[in-house]
Amino acid sequence: MFSPTIFSMRFAWFFVLFISFWPWEKDQNQVKKSSFEIPQDVQLLKVVRVALFYEEPKIVIHAPSSYEVKEFPGNKTLVQGQASADLAIRPEASGIQLDGTVYPISGLRITSQSKEVQVAGKKYHNAIQVLKNPAGSLTIINEVDVEDYLKGVLPWEANPQWPVEALKAQAVVSRTYALFKNIENKDFSFTLGSDVGSQVYKGKSIEHSLSNQAVEKTSGEILTYHGKIFPTFFHSTCGGRTTRADTQWKIHEHPSLKGVECPFCQGSKYFSWKTEFSASEIQKLLAKKGHSISGLHDIVPKDVDISGRPHSFTIKHSGGSLVLPANDLRLALGPDQMRSTMIQVEKKGETFIFWGHGWGHGVGMCQFGAKRLAELGYKHQDILRYYFPDSEIRDLDEFPQAAAHTSASTQSKGNVFNRWYQGVKSYVEDL
Ligand SMILES: [Zn+2]
Repeated sequence: MFSPTIFSMRFAWFFVLFISFWPWEKDQNQVKKSSFEIPQDVQLLKVVRVALFYEEPKIVIHAPSSYEVKEFPGNKTLVQGQASADLAIRPEASGIQLDGTVYPISGLRITSQSKEVQVAGKKYHNAIQVLKNPAGSLTIINEVDVEDYLKGVLPWEANPQWPVEALKAQAVVSRTYALFKNIENKDFSFTLGSDVGSQVYKGKSIEHSLSNQAVEKTSGEILTYHGKIFPTFFHSTCGGRTTRADTQWKIHEHPSLKGVECPFCQGSKYFSWKTEFSASEIQKLLAKKGHSISGLHDIVPKDVDISGRPHSFTIKHSGGSLVLPANDLRLALGPDQMRSTMIQVEKKGETFIFWGHGWGHGVGMCQFGAKRLAELGYKHQDILRYYFPDSEIRDLDEFPQAAAHTSASTQSKGNVFNRWYQGVKSYVEDL
């Protein structure tokens, strides 16, 4: 069980950074797709690959019962153990060392009879993959059914004490988002991170009976638009109106991601907020992101959208002016300080006062709004249709089922992996 204080701290973290740091959003100039067809192989789609650690010099993995280690990709058995064990794994120039023996492999996969594996003291469902990175370190991936994955997401991404219909809405949103990423990133070694860059995932150790119920009661439900899956973004508090995804990131316009009025999150303590920065503080923080300016004298919101969020800010200084995308300014100043881009700026001497609304990017479902709607008696279907207009809940089992597969069919691709790995490196540096 968790105390409310701990919850509020945990709960506070994810939505601030959620999506903002996702490496490809930043590194790729291409406009990303906002919808995908549901693949034929729905069973394969339901297995998500979540990176737990990116650059480990070594790792010890605990198998709590009899276990098997196989080469990955590939299916050759390396070790079969008849009892619980701690498996010490480290990269070597010629392969991977497992309990003192070096195998000429680039990856391995561990399962145990109890269908649970432990990494760094935390329990995870199903299987763990360990892959050797091009730079020689290890990436640790949990290969897990999406329903089990969600049970390790919801206690962090929502408060299990909230009304059940709000939790159910969160379960559908988190499931849809994860499966969208599973399609989008299917050629990469893993499809999701386990931190604020995607959705925070802590595995089996943090499961809670109330959030588990919300996952089970909505099992298989995803949001679709005209039969296609789309990225169901969410955030803490919109501050009065949600906004368009395509004005926040390089993503195609989508009819269900255009923003709606939301008077329902007024109970959130972040509905309105105020924060202050000195001019020198802002200059220092901008310099850390490569923008060296001096004599800062004004910050002006530019191209303000219907929700009140600007696309960018003009930073006026003694050497001229700098135009920064709104989200870049937020990340530079600290997303826990500048909680959203919906701000008005007041200057008093050398102090800049930000009068703001909401917490998070403002796209998709407003969680405090969803909570209020659930308190007012609305069902999760109503809440989702409200925040994602014209969307439809579909059950994954309605879609055609392809033949059974083996996990070894999820081959990692070297060159693509390198690309992902580079993205991860810049991501880690940003944090
Ligand atoms: Zn709201």
